[in-house]
Amino acid sequence: MTSGWQMILEHVVERDYCCGCGVCAGVCVRHAIQMRFNDYGEYRPYLASDCTGCGLCARVCPFLDGNANEDELGATLFEKMREIKHAIETGYYRDAFVGHVADPEVRWGCASGGIATWLLETLLAEKAVDMVLCVSPNDDPTLLFRYEVCRRADEIRRCRRSCYYPVTTQGVLAFVAKHPGRYAIVGLPCVCKAIRLAQQRVPPLRQRIKYVLGLVCGQTKSRSFAEYVCALGGGDPHHLSRVEFRVKDRSRPASDFGLGFTCVPEPGRKQEGTVFWTQGIDRAWLDWYFTPNACNFCDDVFAECADAVVMDAWLPEYCQDAKGHSLILTRDAWINGLFEHELEHPKKAVLRRIQVEKVIRSQMGVLCSKRGGMRDRISRLRQTGLPVPVKRWNTGAWLRPLGIGRLELARYQISRQSRVMWLECGKNLAAFQSGMQDSRRAVDRARRRYLSYRISNGILLRAGLYRRWAMTDFYS
Ligand SMILES: Cc1cc2nc3c(=O)[nH]c(=O)nc-3n(C[C@H](O)[C@H](O)[C@H](O)COP(=O)(O)OP(=O)(O)OC[C@H]3O[C@@H](n4cnc5c(N)ncnc54)[C@H](O)[C@@H]3O)c2cc1C
Ligand code: SF4
Ligand code: SF4
Ligand code: SF4
Repeated sequence: MTSGWQMILEHVVERDYCCGCGVCAGVCVRHAIQMRFNDYGEYRPYLASDCTGCGLCARVCPFLDGNANEDELGATLFEKMREIKHAIETGYYRDAFVGHVADPEVRWGCASGGIATWLLETLLAEKAVDMVLCVSPNDDPTLLFRYEVCRRADEIRRCRRSCYYPVTTQGVLAFVAKHPGRYAIVGLPCVCKAIRLAQQRVPPLRQRIKYVLGLVCGQTKSRSFAEYVCALGGGDPHHLSRVEFRVKDRSRPASDFGLGFTCVPEPGRKQEGTVFWTQGIDRAWLDWYFTPNACNFCDDVFAECADAVVMDAWLPEYCQDAKGHSLILTRDAWINGLFEHELEHPKKAVLRRIQVEKVIRSQMGVLCSKRGGMRDRISRLRQTGLPVPVKRWNTGAWLRPLGIGRLELARYQISRQSRVMWLECGKNLAAFQSGMQDSRRAVDRARRRYLSYRISNGILLRAGLYRRWAMTDFYS
C-alpha cells in the first residue's frame, strides 16, 4: 500500500506542484514531515523521521488529485447560507465592499486599504477569537517572514503588508493542534483550501479555527525574487537581511508600490534601498520571474474556501490614491454583519458597498492569466509527456482572450528558467539578465501580439461573450 507521504512525494513534490503551504507537515502527529527551503528558495516538505503510513498528509494536500476541489469545498461550507450568491469567477459570496481603515497611520502601513488588519483586530476585540495567525517580518536572515501567533492588536499590526515570499503554516498548525482556543488565520487561496481539507480530517483544527481570511492571489514568489529586486536596487543579494513589500510613496499611485530592502554585506556595513514597481518589479512580476510552478497550475483567484477575501482595489477610480483601498467579498454571516454594522455606524473603517462585477473586473488580468492560460500550460505538459494535474479550468475557453496563449506559454517558460538561471549565475544581476534575454524577447513579442488584440478583446469582454461561453458550454 502507498503511504500518504509516498503519494504526495510522487504526485505533488516530485512533479513540482507543491506550493509549500506546509499543511501536510502541520497535521502529521508524528512530526515526520519538516518544511525546508530547496535550492530555488521555495519551501518543500521532507521526511525527517519515521512515517506510520496513516495517510493524513495526503488527504490535506491542496495539489493532490482526488482531494475535494474548491467548488466542492465551497459548496459544503457556504451553499446553504442565507442570501448567498455565486459567480464562476469568485465562488460563493454574500456581499462586496470597498474601503479602508479609518486611522491614516495604520492605513499607510498596510498593503492596500488595511481592511485585513482591521478585520483581524476586530475579531480579537469582539472576542470572536482568542488568537490570530498571520505573517510577520522576521529578523532571521534565513527566514525573513514567518507565520506568528498574535494575541494582541499591536502584534497583528506588526504583521501588516503583503508578503511575496515563501511562508509555511507548519509551526502554527502544530501550535493550534496543541493549544485549545479559538483562532483566525489569514492565508493565500491554496493555504485556505488546505486548511479546509485539514479541518475535515482533524477535529482540533475544525473546532479551533473559527475564521479563515483569504487574500486574492495571482501568484507568489520564491526567495530569489526578493534577492533579485534587491540586486536591481544595487544591494548584495547574498546578504539580504530584511525586506518590506508594498512600501507606499505619496508621489506615486497605489499601483507603483515599492520593495524596501536592507543588506549587510559585512559587519557594520549596511545597504538600504527601495525599488518601485515601475523601476523593474513590474517586469519581474508580470513576466513570472521566480514564480513557483504550483502557481502555473492554480485556478483559485478569490480564495473560494475562505470566510472572507480581501484584495487590492485595482480599479481606475482607486488606483491613483497612494494611500490604498481594499475590496472585500464576505461569505460568513457574522463577518458580513460586522461589515454592515461598520458601514452604517463607521468607527474604525470607511466602507461602501460595491457591485461584485467591479470586484471581478479588478482582478481580470489575474483571471485571464490563471484560468485563461491553463489550457496552454496543460497542453505544454502533454507535449512533453509529463503527467497532467486535474484542474477545474483546463478547457481554457472561459476568459481566453485572443492572443493570450503565446503570452502565457512565454511566462510559463520564464517561471521555469529564471529560478535555475539565478543560481547558475551566482545571483549576478548582469549575467542573469543576459542569460534571460532570449526568453525576455519572446515574452515581449507575445505581449505585443496580445496587445494588438486589445480592441477586439475589449469588445468581446464588454459584450459579455467570454463569460457566456463559460456558463453554457464549458463549466460543469
Ligand atoms: C502572494 C500574494 C499575491 C497577491 N496577489 C494579489 C492579486 O493578484 N490581486 C490583488 O488584488 N491582491 C493580491 N494580493 C493581496 C494584496 O497584496 C493585499 O494583501 C490585500 O489587498 C490586503 O490588503 P490590506 O491592506 O487589507 O492588508 P493588510 O492590512 O496590510 O494585512 C495583510 C494581512 O495579510 C497577511 N499576509 C501578508 N502576506 C501573506 C502571505 N503570503 N500569507 C499569509 N498571510 C499573509 C499579513 O500578515 C496581514 O495580516 C496578494 C497577496 C499576496 C501575499
Ligand atoms: S505519519 Fe501519516 S501524516 Fe505523517 S508523514 Fe506518514 S502518512 Fe503522512
Ligand atoms: S500539503 Fe502543501 S506543502 Fe504539503 S505537499 Fe501538498 S502543497 Fe506541498
Ligand atoms: S497562485 Fe495559487 S498556488 Fe500560487 S501562491 Fe497563489 S494561491 Fe497558492
